[in-house]
Amino acid sequence: MAVETAVQTFKNLINGEWVESASKETFDSINPANVSEVVARFQASVEEDVVEAIEAAERAFQSWRSVSPSKRSEILYKAADLLEAGLEQYAAELTREEGKTLASSKMEVKRSAQTLRYYASEGLNVSGDTLPSDDPTTFVYTKKEPLGVVTVITPWNFPISIPVRKIAPALATGNTVVFKPASDTPLIAYRLVEALHNAGLPAGVINFVTGSASKTGKPLVSHPAIKAVTFTGSTGAGEKINQSVRLSTRVQLELGGKNPLIVLEDADIDQAAELAIKGGFELTGQACTGTSRVIVMEEAHDRFVEKLIEKTKALSVGSGLSQGVEVGPLANESQLNNVLSYIEIGQQEGAKLVYGGERLSEGDYTNGYYVRPAIFTNVKPKMRIAQEEIFGPVISIIRVNSFQEAMEIANDVEFGLSASICTADPNRAQYFIHNIQSGVVKINRPTTGNALNAPFGGVKMSSTATYRESGRAALDFYLQEKTVYHGT
Ligand code: NAP
Repeated sequence: MAVETAVQTFKNLINGEWVESASKETFDSINPANVSEVVARFQASVEEDVVEAIEAAERAFQSWRSVSPSKRSEILYKAADLLEAGLEQYAAELTREEGKTLASSKMEVKRSAQTLRYYASEGLNVSGDTLPSDDPTTFVYTKKEPLGVVTVITPWNFPISIPVRKIAPALATGNTVVFKPASDTPLIAYRLVEALHNAGLPAGVINFVTGSASKTGKPLVSHPAIKAVTFTGSTGAGEKINQSVRLSTRVQLELGGKNPLIVLEDADIDQAAELAIKGGFELTGQACTGTSRVIVMEEAHDRFVEKLIEKTKALSVGSGLSQGVEVGPLANESQLNNVLSYIEIGQQEGAKLVYGGERLSEGDYTNGYYVRPAIFTNVKPKMRIAQEEIFGPVISIIRVNSFQEAMEIANDVEFGLSASICTADPNRAQYFIHNIQSGVVKINRPTTGNALNAPFGGVKMSSTATYRESGRAALDFYLQEKTVYHGT
């Protein structure tokens, strides 16, 4: 039974006003480390709320597009300051509703403030080209303009840093936004919207609507006023969205991964095991760029497995709020069931579970969605645990006899988000960079993590490759170009 005392109810933001849903119903955000705790309560929105939000955003666009870039920038800088001022509180709230460690939550809130500042600055650099003209009386140039209303739909695993890397470039370039966060993590999303609102965004420029995808999804994706949809989440949901958008709506889909770490025989084995732990178990394996396959050369295999087990045993699993914890709970019940079912599937397929994988439910773990990080060996490349995104703390180890075989296996999945190799050999590193089918490529670094100013995105089923997120390239998604012939 969830604890009911002193639970605060939060509202939607539509046209600059905090309002209740037309449904008059709410839903609870729950702490996955202690499911008896209701973290906060949110509006269970319906299509009517979404349409109102879209119409408000459409009206606000007419003036926001003409606000000077420096004024827009000023508001984003102010929102960054507000987020940073609340960092301790917001990080604790993020941990309470998502489960990740407090250190990870602090890093995420901090990064979100940095992202706001980055786009506050980048928004000042939007420019077109001046073109040589055959006619000396005609001045030919291009001009970049915002698109209009942008829908932002985001997952729970990075519940503030992913929204901010979409919302900040959208606003900096003069678009207006309707934002629907994941239903597991609306509180930290609310804090972002609150900071933007309090920083002085005019009414209707950012609109916030919480609630299930089944009740809100249709207009968010297919309303005629929506000029762009930027979505991060599962490949299945991404495919559905892609089928529902109008021809005139621009779409950006950042989807799943099945990211490999190749360990060659000349690798520093201690470092390789560290990278596997960081990529595979940090964030409880719930990162789109998480390491889920480790492809190891025969000569290094036994040394690597031994080291990985030793280091995994030393990991502290528990509530993300507790000091020293390195692996928190899974974010929700369906995540827990999904991970446990893949651990079952792996064993049925004939892989060997050499460590972990059991549900933890005694003592401090009683009320949480805890699973001990799992390591499988004897994994064959076509097994489901080697092909499908598990999105949890499960590492599948595949043994190979040659670098060529490792490369073929690494590429033989439908995804292509992030990939890494551990080697001391610059030639094989170069070969890897050239031949790996992946949007993000790392050498002696974890598959997880991306720089603030670097483009981010996948290939194959991990992403619609047309537009990258993050970095300067992200602005292009939110802009369209006009070619102007200006005569006298
Ligand atoms: P999800 O179930 O696809 O949900 C993501 C968001 O989309 C949520 O806000 C969800 O709302 C909404 N949604 C789901 N179906 C929809 C539909 N048909 N129309 C409109 N909205 C819809 O994903 P998740 O479980 O939150 O996140 C995990 C997935 O995200 C993993 O596959 C992971 O790889 C991927 N991910 C990718 C990246 C990347 O950059 N490539 C980064 C992080 C995560 P509700 O919450 O209300 O259901």
